[in-house]
Amino acid sequence: GATVGILGGGQLGRMMANAGSAMGYRFVALDPTPDAPTGQVAQQIVAAYDDKGAARELAQRADVITYEFENVDAGVAAMLMEESYVPQGSELLYTTQHRLREKRAIEAAGVKVAPYAEVRSSDELREAAGRFGLPCVLKTATGGYDGKGQWVIRSADEIEEAFETLKRAGTDLVLEQFIRFSKELSVIAARSTQGEIRTFPAAENVHVDNILHLSIVPARIDEALQREAEVLAARIAEGLGVVGLIAVELFLTEDGELLVNELAPRPHNSGHYTMEACRTSQFEQHVRAICGLPLGDTSLLTPVVMVNVLGEHVAPLLDLVAKPDASAERLGVAPKIHLYGKHEAKHKRKMGHVNVLAANVDEALAWISETNTWRV
Ligand code: ATP
Ligand code: MG
Ligand code: MG
Repeated sequence: GATVGILGGGQLGRMMANAGSAMGYRFVALDPTPDAPTGQVAQQIVAAYDDKGAARELAQRADVITYEFENVDAGVAAMLMEESYVPQGSELLYTTQHRLREKRAIEAAGVKVAPYAEVRSSDELREAAGRFGLPCVLKTATGGYDGKGQWVIRSADEIEEAFETLKRAGTDLVLEQFIRFSKELSVIAARSTQGEIRTFPAAENVHVDNILHLSIVPARIDEALQREAEVLAARIAEGLGVVGLIAVELFLTEDGELLVNELAPRPHNSGHYTMEACRTSQFEQHVRAICGLPLGDTSLLTPVVMVNVLGEHVAPLLDLVAKPDASAERLGVAPKIHLYGKHEAKHKRKMGHVNVLAANVDEALAWISETNTWRV
């Protein structure tokens, strides 16, 4: 079988390698941390992501190159394109690395985003904040994750400080209207090298401190809206010429409108539910899409709630799984535990997730709230 090279060696690469190994592919990951999550289940080149020599070695050892995070250095991406086969190309990375470029591309695909403005000075920020009203959200255009690089401006007094603070990151800044959403949703779409597109069922996402806590599937919205969310994601996959996966984060407004928040051109935390709950997982689908195989069936097999396991949840979770859990019995199938092999269970660090399969999402949510694991 062919060898797939992955830029990055975190949990997304690990789950990609696990899915692809079952299909006969070999994997080699480039990551600076020795014994990275992917390196434990695949080969690993231990070097910095922007180490050109190491990237060249990755290109030589692999037949196909992919990535598991979007902040790939442009020079490395260009070099890999020249020396190996990168079916996803570099354009999609270039677009999704920068919030303004990303929003323009989404709009060009005919899909709506939350009202936004580029702000180059505190005067421009004041003007745009006046237009959108308070609160509004100032974001760095590049490099943000888990809500880092963001400032929710709640009063006009904060404008100067918000601008000066975020400007220090040295990137462009974008102001967004604050969306009073009734729900956050996401849809993962896959597009193959052959141009085939398939979408996974929409997930309803609950964040705690800007970190994903739960993905609830089916999302508790009517079926027409579930369908509409999938159609939007497919339109984005087509419009941006995606190859591989694109995760589309959405706001459902109080008026029932869907607005895109942001994109991720890779497997996404909110798609981990697919591992046991769909006929094809997002990881298998990604491998299929980039390796030129027909895409898999994305049908949902069972209601599911995915709950993230952060550093502080690991000890109570291990306690829970070590003893017979009466409440799990009524679910019919014991909750599916995934841990990523990270060595240090740091506070807020993503260590794993649990897929709770049940007859309906309320039963899965009840099990989660009855365990002590997520109450620390
Ligand atoms: P991720 O870890 O998903 O990449 P991120 O740092 O890129 O996160 P966003 O997804 O832009 O950040 O925002 C994080 C969360 O903040 C969103 O999921 C949402 O709950 C809230 N949020 C962001 N933008 C807005 C907005 N314009 N209006 C209301 N809430 C928002
Ligand atoms: Mg983001
Ligand atoms: Mg986000």
